[in-house]
Amino acid sequence: MKPQTINQENKAAPCRSLLCPSAQPEMAGSMVLGVIAGKDSNARLSYLEQPIPVTDALLKLAHPVEPTQLLRFAAHCEENHCIHYNGKDCTLATRLVQILPAVTEALPPCKIRSECRWFQQEHKAACMRCPQVITSLENPTAEMARAALPSAVG
Ligand code: SF4
Repeated sequence: MKPQTINQENKAAPCRSLLCPSAQPEMAGSMVLGVIAGKDSNARLSYLEQPIPVTDALLKLAHPVEPTQLLRFAAHCEENHCIHYNGKDCTLATRLVQILPAVTEALPPCKIRSECRWFQQEHKAACMRCPQVITSLENPTAEMARAALPSAVG
């Protein structure tokens, strides 16, 4: 479930104050949020005690798979440059909460909460679903595929 950059040259510059917690490693300010353990619908994110900045050497460790299949990255939300942003909210966060089941009762031990767009928007409901999110879905469940689709929820 990844941010999808769109070409909108005349849009305002993205706000740098909030973080996208399912970002691409090449996005501005990208850092490793956690490591994914398990596969497909059983995959869960282990949050790092402290997010670490992305480096080329770190990304090479994932070879031959995509880094986004092993790691989750957080980076500056690209707002109007992302297809999931509707001018006010991250619609991906909305769909995650509406479509996916909660996978934890407790707040995950996540260090970006004060800057996380999903948390700011959907609060604890986003955190209860967050550990199951993989940015690059290889074999998504039907629910995950729906949640990832920008057109799935108005
Ligand atoms: S656990 Fe909550 S605060 Fe942390 S990245 Fe996920 S949604 Fe954001």
